[in-house]
Amino acid sequence: MKKILSLVILCASLSVVAQTQNFPRVIVIGAHPDDCDQDAGGTAILFAQMGYAVKFVSVTNGDAGHQSEGGGMLAMRRAAEAKEAGKRFGVSYDVLDNHDGELTPRLEVRLQIIRKIREWNADLVIAPRPNDYHPDHRYTGVLVQDAAYMVAVPNVAPDTPPLKKNPVFVYSQDYFQRPNPFRPDIAIDITPVYEKKVHALDAHVSQVYEWLPWIGGYADQVPKNVADREKWLATRIAGRITPDMKASLEKWYGKEKAAQVKNAESFEICEYGTQPSEDDIRKLFPMLKK
Ligand SMILES: [Zn+2]
Repeated sequence: MKKILSLVILCASLSVVAQTQNFPRVIVIGAHPDDCDQDAGGTAILFAQMGYAVKFVSVTNGDAGHQSEGGGMLAMRRAAEAKEAGKRFGVSYDVLDNHDGELTPRLEVRLQIIRKIREWNADLVIAPRPNDYHPDHRYTGVLVQDAAYMVAVPNVAPDTPPLKKNPVFVYSQDYFQRPNPFRPDIAIDITPVYEKKVHALDAHVSQVYEWLPWIGGYADQVPKNVADREKWLATRIAGRITPDMKASLEKWYGKEKAAQVKNAESFEICEYGTQPSEDDIRKLFPMLKK
């Protein structure tokens, strides 16, 4: 009995510790159900492994992303894929019911995003820049910019309690050069979890093995054998480490460690959120260790 009682006390005190550890809360926002995964999936795995609560939000339901399927059936298929990917990443995954390929930066969607960031009580928001070939990606960038600051204004979307503080907003990496190239303020070594990232992206079968190869003109390269697919996907999705990213990795991890990085994700600090100091960045991203 005494043993049981002390076990109960131990469990109770452990749960108090878990509640009071006060981990930062992270929300990643993308246009389609697979965008967050590619943009910040490795970083999300590292966060989840440290005990952070991470949410992915897709602003559209992905109902246009296929060459032979579409509409509600495709949206349902993609929602199921996102759910499975979320499980593999260790994050929760929400898909908003806006049409794919038709996203515009309108007030209705801005309010949806404000509510999502508030409900998650986010400290860190990750989203694309508004420079991108795809209008849904561009407008997701604009919509999240429009939600910054407003998330703390009580009279906007008054049905959802405002945040006490404007979160830190960061842009996920891209390679577009106009009007200005992406600036990797923060670079995360995801080499140790890269296989896990690939495994999670593998859940988006309709995208990584069907739609993207079809529209990209490389459908003939997808392995016929399912067992060979993840290995192929790993080479397909590996992003380049640009000289700027390399310099950022060296700044955060030191030269020696940075030289060993094979896969990385990087982020640019958005001017519209709280501006973090170097110290704040190391607190938000404790995986940055020299
Ligand atoms: Zn997309």
